[in-house]
Amino acid sequence: MMTSTYKLSTNLNNNNFYIKRDDLLPFSFGGNKARKATMFFEDIKAKKCDTVITYGSSSSNHCRVVANMAKANGLGCIIISPEEDYVETANSKLVNMLGARVIKTTLDSVAKTIDETMETLNRTCKPYFIQGGGHGVLGTRSYVEAYDEICKFEKENDIKFDYIFHASGTGTTQAGLVAGRLMKKNENQKIIGISIARPNPRGKQVILDSLNEYFKNSDDYTDKVDFIDDYLCGGYGKYTQDVLAVVKKVFEFEGVPLNTTYTGKAFYGMENFIIKNNINNKNILFINTGGSPLFFDSLEELNK
Ligand SMILES: *Cc1c(COP(=O)(O)O)cnc(C)c1O
Repeated sequence: MMTSTYKLSTNLNNNNFYIKRDDLLPFSFGGNKARKATMFFEDIKAKKCDTVITYGSSSSNHCRVVANMAKANGLGCIIISPEEDYVETANSKLVNMLGARVIKTTLDSVAKTIDETMETLNRTCKPYFIQGGGHGVLGTRSYVEAYDEICKFEKENDIKFDYIFHASGTGTTQAGLVAGRLMKKNENQKIIGISIARPNPRGKQVILDSLNEYFKNSDDYTDKVDFIDDYLCGGYGKYTQDVLAVVKKVFEFEGVPLNTTYTGKAFYGMENFIIKNNINNKNILFINTGGSPLFFDSLEELNK
């Protein structure tokens, strides 16, 4: 799964910026959801399940990847989606094209709808449930692997990353990276998750829980997790003109597509965090966690 990592031309406070292009993972426009789903589908095949059920919003990359992998493997796919802020996006159109059955329901009844749908499915087939965003131990494990790839890059290129920045949502990606760092005892490196939706304390707590679940212990990892909720820009899917400007700038000068929902917000947050904390002369890695179809949803805005 090794994805390409290289130096960016971005300069801020004399730091060296590198990028890990997880958006270029080979399946379905890649991204962290492709990395996670690969693990889940190995489990699905091992358990001989025939239908996948998961949930997510209309802009969910996770839903697109799961619908695509289900199709490619000849499995049924059901997506539960909250109807409140359902707007057609490139991702929701792809989900439809891939033949997934989308059940829209109110946000409040998502859990109930999942239970009822599972119950119905259990009578006629062998369903497999994946939590939203590919949350869970298998998702965490996929980013422990990504962390190992980062260590391999450091070794081969004789470099140490002082900071790793990335967009953090359910925190599964961050839990995997932090778990990897703890196992490698890289005490001096900071992994900064820029929250794209959840405020603290809940956002961070989910990561702490994921670490306990992954390590099967009840240790306190409070000091080991940096989950920054200063750049929410109003919450999931919302963004400011500054975020849009960062998406434009990074595409213009690096040729890398970011998006306003996840990676653009994270890059914007990273720049502001670096300025605010006066970080200089460090080696900084940004993980592009994907969501390329969302870049195209912003084209009109970007052209204004
Ligand atoms: C889902 C997603 C995230 C957040 O990942 P989590 O593991 O849920 O924290 C970040 N970036 C992109 C592009 C995503 O689709």
